Amino acid sequence: MVLGAGIAGLLIARVLSESFARVTILERDRADGARVRRGVPQGRHLHGLLDSGRAVFEELFPGCTGELLRRGATAAEVLVNTRWYVGGARLAATPTGLTSVIASRPLLEDVLRERTRMIANIAVREGITVHGLVGGADRVTGVTLDGAAETFAADLVVDATGRGSRIEYWLSDIGAPVPESERLEVDLGYATRLFGHRAGQLGGDASVIISTGANGRGGGAVRIEGDRWLVTLAGMLGDHPPTDPAEFREYAATLSAPDIHDIITDSEPVDDPVPYRFRSSVRRRFDRLTAMPAGLLVVGDALCAFNPLYAQGMTVAALQAMALRECLYAGGMPDELAVRFHTACAEPVSAAWRLTATSDLSNPGVTGTRDLRTRLTNRYVAQTHRAAQRDPVVARSFMRVAHLVEPPAVLAHPLIAARILLRGNSTASSRPPRGSAAAESTTPAQSGASVWPHHT
Ligand SMILES: Cc1cc2nc3c(=O)[nH]c(=O)nc-3n(C[C@H](O)[C@H](O)[C@H](O)COP(=O)(O)OP(=O)(O)OC[C@H]3O[C@@H](n4cnc5c(N)ncnc54)[C@H](O)[C@@H]3O)c2cc1C
Repeated sequence: MVLGAGIAGLLIARVLSESFARVTILERDRADGARVRRGVPQGRHLHGLLDSGRAVFEELFPGCTGELLRRGATAAEVLVNTRWYVGGARLAATPTGLTSVIASRPLLEDVLRERTRMIANIAVREGITVHGLVGGADRVTGVTLDGAAETFAADLVVDATGRGSRIEYWLSDIGAPVPESERLEVDLGYATRLFGHRAGQLGGDASVIISTGANGRGGGAVRIEGDRWLVTLAGMLGDHPPTDPAEFREYAATLSAPDIHDIITDSEPVDDPVPYRFRSSVRRRFDRLTAMPAGLLVVGDALCAFNPLYAQGMTVAALQAMALRECLYAGGMPDELAVRFHTACAEPVSAAWRLTATSDLSNPGVTGTRDLRTRLTNRYVAQTHRAAQRDPVVARSFMRVAHLVEPPAVLAHPLIAARILLRGNSTASSRPPRGSAAAESTTPAQSGASVWPHHT
């Protein structure tokens, strides 16, 4: 039984359907095609799908990329048809071998949902709210439904209820141990508005990403289905983009490159700006629980909700689905599946968490421990960004790491490191963000601050 029919729930259900006779997904909302749902308010905002996530989507649901394109999504070579600005300068435009499928989050989800519904042994039951778990400290045997009066038994329960998961309460209600959590507060704000797209805008490119720079502000404009621009502005540490249309436009003018502001000025709005607030990244350490109850898995944002600036959530959920598939293929005692799965997941989750946490900590306003490794890494990342503005080889490697296709270690390979050290030491090409108080006080670490979003 899978709780939640978001991206994580759909991918996990698909994998479970290979090994279990019957899979039931319980979802609170009733889906209405490719529309934003109440249970997924973040669906209104820019959702970039990293290339490694796209590859898993395609493996689990063959043909889904083609279907997305048929329904109006755009495909782009990551650094060729997309403009990527980091530290105020554009990264070298070069082939990376990475494809970006640009679509709204509701469309991505709708394509996966329709394909999930076609799988004979999966049932999607909508309009059902799960209230808690049935079982005890040793084993979870089902869930309680609306009003806690009704119960539903299952051999395996998967919590895919997203970042609002109540798993800690549910576990303590049945006397099971509760995992510790790690948290990194970033107080990020988004505001998103749709605009009509006209031929020739942005030189025909499919999207532009301006990473959060020294002033903690960034943005993205992506051409989604329906020939529209989806424009998301973002600001860290309480400096949130406004939803008043004129102020929204003014905020866009303070980003470190003019492209998004140009699109806003030059396009007809389709709706009003909509906000979203994300206070902190949260990781629940089920991998460290010494006594995990059998019969329970926790996945997706319920397991780890990443700072959305790095566009990792859907992709890490996809990597978790693949980790589950490997655990199921390997066999072993069913009672040990929960422990094996959370141990296997720890690797991709830790890799993504390290990337985002290290980058967030390059912002002096983010509270957290900066050990020597973090400080050295951030210095090197800042050099990498500068080198990637000039050197296509570095730009390609950097993007492949950001898309979770290659490990960060490739940036330390002697041939790449030599290029980074050679081309990344001058700050000549970086310029401070316009209209920013922080522009006068840019430090090297800040100018190489979080790359946003690591997508497209
Ligand atoms: C502002 C923002 C922007 C983001 N941008 C990106 C991006 O660019 N790229 C990226 O990869 N990721 C991004 N993410 C993260 C991404 O949205 C998630 O990581 C991804 O969707 C996986 O989430 P999930 O399936 O675990 O949870 P969700 O998508 O939140 O789905 C949870 C589901 O569970 C259901 N549910 C909740 N409680 C119950 C209950 N009690 N009973 C029954 N059903 C329930 C909900 O209705 C919902 O359908 C972003 C997140 C935010 C907040």
